[in-house]
Amino acid sequence: MRFQDRVALITGAGSGIGRATARRLAAEGARLALVDWSGDGLEDTVAAIRQDSAGTAGADDTLWTGIIDVSDEAAVERCVSDVIKAFGRIDVLCNNAGISGGHLPVTEQSTSEWQRVLGVNLAGPMLMIKNVAPHMQAQGGGAIVNTASVAGIRSGAGGNAYSASKAGLINLTMTTACDLGSYSIRVNAVCPGLIETGMTRPVFEYARSNDKEHKLGSRCELRRYGRPEEIAAAIAFLASDDASYITGQALPVDGGNTASL
Ligand code: NAD
Repeated sequence: MRFQDRVALITGAGSGIGRATARRLAAEGARLALVDWSGDGLEDTVAAIRQDSAGTAGADDTLWTGIIDVSDEAAVERCVSDVIKAFGRIDVLCNNAGISGGHLPVTEQSTSEWQRVLGVNLAGPMLMIKNVAPHMQAQGGGAIVNTASVAGIRSGAGGNAYSASKAGLINLTMTTACDLGSYSIRVNAVCPGLIETGMTRPVFEYARSNDKEHKLGSRCELRRYGRPEEIAAAIAFLASDDASYITGQALPVDGGNTASL
């Protein structure tokens, strides 16, 4: 119960890694502010948390949901203010919402698509940190975990906009750790490898319908793809006091995908 009496705000909580993180933190006692632009996704996450706890957790005073686009500055400001009204504090921020964008070569990259991907994956976390950190400063500390990607470390794991956004997020993790360290606010990132989620569904569907499932994750030293719960476990660790002396780091959680770089 590492998050007993703590409040965690999780973006992208309506699917995949965000949902797994919400379930993990709820199981460890957190009160949750779940944010996504998909209301249906959030409803499914709330239902899953209620089912996990067989009714003992997930009551209205422990769960708050907000439907926003994390790249919309005014919406982020309102959201953080509403979470503070609901819970009075934010101890953990998980910047997890993300989109993949296309895989076109840079010569065919549309500027609007580039800005859309950078807006969600990089400006979104910055806006959340900007609005949440003052509350953590006033409380005397907090923990922020950003979901980056192996695509931010090496080429070939995402399109150019996606990869640039995740490399930027790794640097934002380091620079905000420096900005906020003296307030006892830790900022870290996880860099997942290939995980089966909503975002990667087309990749998995293609592989399964073409008898290529064995190839998924074959570039990892563990020779398999990952599960959202395996990323959630790493996020929970970095958000918890078990990681009390870790800040400014980007942890690959990738089955060894980047080990042989
Ligand atoms: P997912 O599509 O299952 O979940 C992403 C969630 O974010 C969705 O619920 C979606 O509605 C929400 N979202 C997207 N844009 C949003 C916005 N602008 N505002 C609010 N909510 C928004 O995908 P996932 O794989 O669970 O992705 C979670 C994070 O993990 C992303 O940042 C992604 O880049 C990262 N990641 C995923 C993988 C992978 O293999 N799945 C690998 C590396 C990194």
